[in-house]
Amino acid sequence: MTVNKFIRNLLNLKELSVTHVELHARKRTLDLWVKPYKNGCLCPHCHRRGRIVRIMDECRLWRDLTLYGCMVMLWYCPKEIMCPTHGRVQENIPWADDYARITYRFEYAMLVYCQIMSQKAAAQMLHIAQSTLSDLLHRSIERIRDGHRIRDLKAIGVDEISYCKGHKYATIVYDIKKACVVWVGKGKGEKTIDRFFKEMLSDYQKRKIKWATCDMSQAYINAIENHCPNVTLILDRFHIVKKLNEAVDEVRKEQWREASGDERKTLKGLRWLLYRHSSKRSKKDTWILNTLRKGNRRIHRAWVLKDEFEHFWDYKTHWAADRFIKRWTTTALKSRLEPIRRFVKTIRKHMHRILPYVETRMTNAVAEGLNRIIKIIKNRASGFRTLEAFTDLIFLTVGDLNIPEQIPKDFRTI
Ligand SMILES: [Zn+2]
Repeated sequence: MTVNKFIRNLLNLKELSVTHVELHARKRTLDLWVKPYKNGCLCPHCHRRGRIVRIMDECRLWRDLTLYGCMVMLWYCPKEIMCPTHGRVQENIPWADDYARITYRFEYAMLVYCQIMSQKAAAQMLHIAQSTLSDLLHRSIERIRDGHRIRDLKAIGVDEISYCKGHKYATIVYDIKKACVVWVGKGKGEKTIDRFFKEMLSDYQKRKIKWATCDMSQAYINAIENHCPNVTLILDRFHIVKKLNEAVDEVRKEQWREASGDERKTLKGLRWLLYRHSSKRSKKDTWILNTLRKGNRRIHRAWVLKDEFEHFWDYKTHWAADRFIKRWTTTALKSRLEPIRRFVKTIRKHMHRILPYVETRMTNAVAEGLNRIIKIIKNRASGFRTLEAFTDLIFLTVGDLNIPEQIPKDFRTI
């Protein structure tokens, strides 16, 4: 076995042959002069052989993965060829994308590392500067996602997320069936979500959307119902529960403000207790809440109403759920608790968007799960200054396209 062949086999360099090797022990670099297998000259578009027009004067170099602490560099002078169909083009480079400075293998490692660790850690593992890494990553993801289209969208979830330390907002659209993110747009509100429907989906695709979930923001509701004619919109369960919890908390705050010093003692520590779902309460918690019946009637009333409302989610038939919610809202209105009454008004307004939950059991749970992953990405990077950098990582980790899988198969090794 010649040295060149040995190196080619060791580094698993497919579709290229090594012509010359130089190892600089002190600089810890391994320079490999390579050329495409069988002399190359293939058109990058149609893979037919073309006539050589020009050989570049300067050698180009590509960065490959580090081997035993040695930086591996590939050197080659690409040729310009004349393809009968595509005209004058640069020949196909089998180990890297056109005009890329890194090999596919390096790119694959970078994408996989960035999926599971912070960019700082990934940069350390790849022996490059962090700024270089984010630059390379952005270009890579942009190239791979270029021309990618949303497919087979039947159920969507819409939510908002903050970035840049909570100062700025982005709207995220999820594919609920496939549990992935299909779109990220700057800003929140109707204009942003409008852009998704106008730019990303055809009329046919919009008609295909059967289900949608979102929070109670009127902007999202309007946009979804305007654009998708066949959609059944179901308001997200978690957001409804959150609204009710907020109303109960407001009752507590009101009472706290009105209470005198001694009364306040009994109201202490109630906040989280009231938030808790009945199934997660200990006996002691229930006892404390029950004593409120004598201590503070209004908070007790709000809490009982909240507990009762939990049953709504267990109903399995439309008519029974409908009857339940009508009864509950009537009782709640009689309670004379202003925050609760406001909640009832919202519920009544959105009744036809809440009841379908009973039959479909559709919640934004998938979106909540993805949201959690997105938050981890955000925390790992300790915030993002630009939405582009954030979007890159969202698509890389929970996007609708498996990005590392798009690298040619032979180079998917680390
Ligand atoms: Zn061609």
